[in-house]
Amino acid sequence: MIMDAFPSEPYSDLSDDEVFARIAAARAALGDDALVLGHHYQTEAVVRFADLKGDSYELSKKAAESHARLIVFCGVHFMAEAADILTRPEQTVVMPDLEAGCPMADMASRGELESAWVQLAELGNPDDLFLPVTYINSRAEVKAFCGLHGGLICTSANAGKALTWALQRRPKVFFLPDQHLGRNTALAQGIPPAEITLWDPVLPLGGNSLAVLRQARILLWKGHCHVHTRFSTAQVRQARQAHPEAKVVVHPECPQEVVAASDAAGSTGFIVRYVEAAPPGSTIVIGTEINLITRLARQYRDRTILPLVSSMCPNMYKNSPRDLLHVLENPGRVNVVRVADEIREPARLALQRMLDL
Ligand code: SF4
Repeated sequence: MIMDAFPSEPYSDLSDDEVFARIAAARAALGDDALVLGHHYQTEAVVRFADLKGDSYELSKKAAESHARLIVFCGVHFMAEAADILTRPEQTVVMPDLEAGCPMADMASRGELESAWVQLAELGNPDDLFLPVTYINSRAEVKAFCGLHGGLICTSANAGKALTWALQRRPKVFFLPDQHLGRNTALAQGIPPAEITLWDPVLPLGGNSLAVLRQARILLWKGHCHVHTRFSTAQVRQARQAHPEAKVVVHPECPQEVVAASDAAGSTGFIVRYVEAAPPGSTIVIGTEINLITRLARQYRDRTILPLVSSMCPNMYKNSPRDLLHVLENPGRVNVVRVADEIREPARLALQRMLDL
């Protein structure tokens, strides 16, 4: 992957109003040549300039459909990589801040995955037994591994479909990197807990016996999102005591017991639609990243929208309006995200399998 970064200090002496005015001017000058995508977890100061808002699934589809020469992805690094993989060679994907990564995506590397495949050969040919499914919140190299081994990508919006697709093709699924999304999805598909096991990449056989691995249908990589594992059943109980009329809705990156204690669970797109569909006067307590909840509370003032607890993604927060101005005033010249060709093609295959679901 080649990344070009230049410092954006020249903007530090501008007032916020000057920054906003220059972003608007730079955006207008680019016209249809640019598409600005904003993930739901971006701050309001950034996402207000997005042409399209959405979750990683919605935005990756929009990037694939777009003809704009410059895609500005206001999100974290794996999202910009996915956009680069799906777009055409004449299109350039940039991010406001290249340092906006995702710790969960960094919990699984291709080397660790290849080591797992070597160890799983004790059960037989892993490519006959296991289909790798990676959450889109993963490195491009991990997506490429999945593409090369018959697997696919999923998002929190289509993980159920992806699991069904995978189990129609091979007896077992190797799901990574988020154990919670994997567990919540598998349980929702009716897979018994005894057929689900955790794979810890630092332990031999992932910390399992061969007997456990033979019985398991779902192997879950030991990864998690620190933003969503902050939520607990005690918080759900407290919310219900304080607001007995409230519905509690959480993201499936939350631990299974939190999902079980809630009224509904789904992707950020699902949460947005849940709030939209709620009648005026209703109370909804949400367990996901705080920027989305704050925006929904502002947008739907006739409903009471509350966080289960305030949990912010510091990585999403790294993209500032000044960073956005930097990439818009230097179109295609700074903060470019390019995935190497040998990774791009197999990763695209895995992404395309997801888009075809
Ligand atoms: S919310 Fe969690 S999964 Fe999403 S970018 Fe932040 S750390 Fe990664």
